[in-house]
Amino acid sequence: MALALGLGKSTHTTANWSPDPPVTSTDSITYTTVRDVQPGEELCIFYGHNLWFKPSDKMEKQVEESVEDGWGGLSHISASEEEGQPYRNPFSDGSRDEVVPEEDLPFTRFKLPPEEETPDLIRTVDSWVVDVPDARHINTLIKWLKQAQLETPDVAHLKRIRKNLQTGETTLLLCLSPQNDPTGPPALPDSLGLPPCYKTTVPASSALTLPSLALKSALWPTMYTPKRKDEVEAWTRGKAAWAWDAMSTTVQTAREGTLLKNELPIAAHIPAPYDGPPLTVSFAAHDTRSTTSHPLRHAAINVIRKLADYHASNDSTRSVQLDTGSAPSSLLDPAAAREDNGSNYLLTGQTIFLTHEPCIMCSMALLHSRVKEVFYLYPSPSTGGCGSLTCLPTLKGVNHRFSICTWSDFSSLRLDETPNHGDAHTFGLRLDGEIDA
Ligand SMILES: [Zn+2]
Repeated sequence: MALALGLGKSTHTTANWSPDPPVTSTDSITYTTVRDVQPGEELCIFYGHNLWFKPSDKMEKQVEESVEDGWGGLSHISASEEEGQPYRNPFSDGSRDEVVPEEDLPFTRFKLPPEEETPDLIRTVDSWVVDVPDARHINTLIKWLKQAQLETPDVAHLKRIRKNLQTGETTLLLCLSPQNDPTGPPALPDSLGLPPCYKTTVPASSALTLPSLALKSALWPTMYTPKRKDEVEAWTRGKAAWAWDAMSTTVQTAREGTLLKNELPIAAHIPAPYDGPPLTVSFAAHDTRSTTSHPLRHAAINVIRKLADYHASNDSTRSVQLDTGSAPSSLLDPAAAREDNGSNYLLTGQTIFLTHEPCIMCSMALLHSRVKEVFYLYPSPSTGGCGSLTCLPTLKGVNHRFSICTWSDFSSLRLDETPNHGDAHTFGLRLDGEIDA
């Protein structure tokens, strides 16, 4: 037997007070629990973010930070709110520094193809370069690159200068010129009397091995970031616990989206990095295609936009109010966007957790954002861009690579394998058919 309080009690009270009661004394309320219930445990229900009373504890912070802006107000979760995981983290015990054997990790690493060690395997991209006849102009030009906002992450794997040892000629890399990019070459400073820019082919990524470095540097001097082919990063219990918490938050976000808003059960989460900076806040978003009637409001796109809005609003030179839902000034003002240099959306060094393998659009957005790692629960065989239909970070011509891990521990997250699309009360999050994530 259970005693209904709060909203459950209110429902009965309304029925009792009404002269024409819609609920008779013989009716009952049905609640479905989202997890197993222990004897004597108090059962709580989530009323939604728009409360008619003032919550007494940390809920207050969550309400203040919630934003009704098309993301379901579920993003910008602070670290403290993540502590209340409803399920037990299997990595929370023991020494945080103990290395977890590969086979005990809750995920499987997606094996990327071998490093580019033959000329036909090297991924390249066009770029704009200029010969600098007078070497004394190099320092001036390096400073000018910064002023002209040409110091962008997409050329970080390349050296800026190529010196031809035979001719003594120096060439400066200006910027990439991806295929079909209508943008012409950048305008050079007039005062230096430089010859016209021209296009040349450069490697699309840094070299991981010495043979690759030799081949790539023959095209253009390339950065060497050595990593053994079979080398995999060791994971400690602390980091595994961090990943488990992050995936648990992702699952909860998808469940809230589908239960409260009848959205597709797809969510994405960018936790504060385990090793600290660059971020100390987390972001989560679920799919909002249903409530916004917007076909591009996928969870991954939504969460990247939340992070970009956060960066825009935390720039002291601009005053964007997240809680009023106003758009960042960079979205409204082209000059502000140029000032940002489009860097607000960057996920450099960060990890994203998703309930589903992202579609090709979202995978490309993640590639552009320079994300470090992508974790997902369910593959998307017909639409996935991270290993199923295609694997974007391995394609020729892309200029960034990221790691992909597929989650394998479904039991501790209490996920069943039942398809649940259209049935919000089943908690397996697997999607049916051709739905893209
Ligand atoms: Zn997508």
